[in-house]
Amino acid sequence: MITVSDLTKVYLQGKRQVRALDGVSLTVPAGSIHGIIGHSGAGKSTLVRCLTMLDRPTSGTVEINGVDLTAARSDALRTARRRIGLVFQQANLFDSRTIAANVAYPLEIIGADKARTKAKVDELLGLVGLTDAGQAYPSQLSGGMRQRVGIARALATDPDVLLFDEPTSALDPRTTDEILDLIQSLRTHAELAVLVITHEMHVVKRICDSVSLLEGGRIVESGALTDVVNRL
Ligand code: ADP
Ligand code: ADP
Repeated sequence: MITVSDLTKVYLQGKRQVRALDGVSLTVPAGSIHGIIGHSGAGKSTLVRCLTMLDRPTSGTVEINGVDLTAARSDALRTARRRIGLVFQQANLFDSRTIAANVAYPLEIIGADKARTKAKVDELLGLVGLTDAGQAYPSQLSGGMRQRVGIARALATDPDVLLFDEPTSALDPRTTDEILDLIQSLRTHAELAVLVITHEMHVVKRICDSVSLLEGGRIVESGALTDVVNRL
């Protein structure tokens, strides 16, 4: 589960202070999918960067299963960050590595042993429907398949939170549906909290249990999907 409390990020643009995030709080329990929807400029990218600590929030906390990422330093932070798997708009794969080697990459970083890595990669390729693609290279796959690889890679270190940043914005409608079905199927991973950040309402409507509406760095609506959709 991920708990975000009063997250604020202030940027300086010249002499002007911009509150890209202004007191954002939310909780995503394990086993559920939460959507964050907002227009351009709402603060979505800033939220992604602050949740993953690629950028330090000005104030507030991000807790994953009770561990506060904003309080962690160096080694502890590196370990804590692995609790979040990040899936980008484009899968950002290494073109010179096979699909299996791409999925194995996070495990290589943490020095996992070969047998464990191979078993995990096989399991994950099965999960995302790419059992036979392990020895292929990214350039040989469609955009949708590459996105599946990105999801498998994000799951390699058994994160507690999977964070999707505009996961389908670069995909055609049919591929979008396939990827959304895959994201939805992750709900069976009962220990995983899924957060989907998007500007596309149809994405939220199709797969999310709950949703927050981000505007000007603030959450202006939040709740169960049907309740929020009815209020809009
Ligand atoms: P700094 O303001 O300390 O130089 P950055 O290097 O992050 O910080 O950004 C440089 C400038 O580029 C900022 O002042 C801002 O005007 C602009 N900028 C960077 N990223 C964005 C963004 N996502 N949206 C709007 N402006 C941005
Ligand atoms: P979104 O991803 O929803 O389009 P952003 O998080 O990129 O929104 O931007 C939210 C606000 O913060 C905007 O006003 C943007 O100009 C500002 N901003 C984002 N990053 C920076 C930055 N590095 N420096 C200055 N301003 C930024």
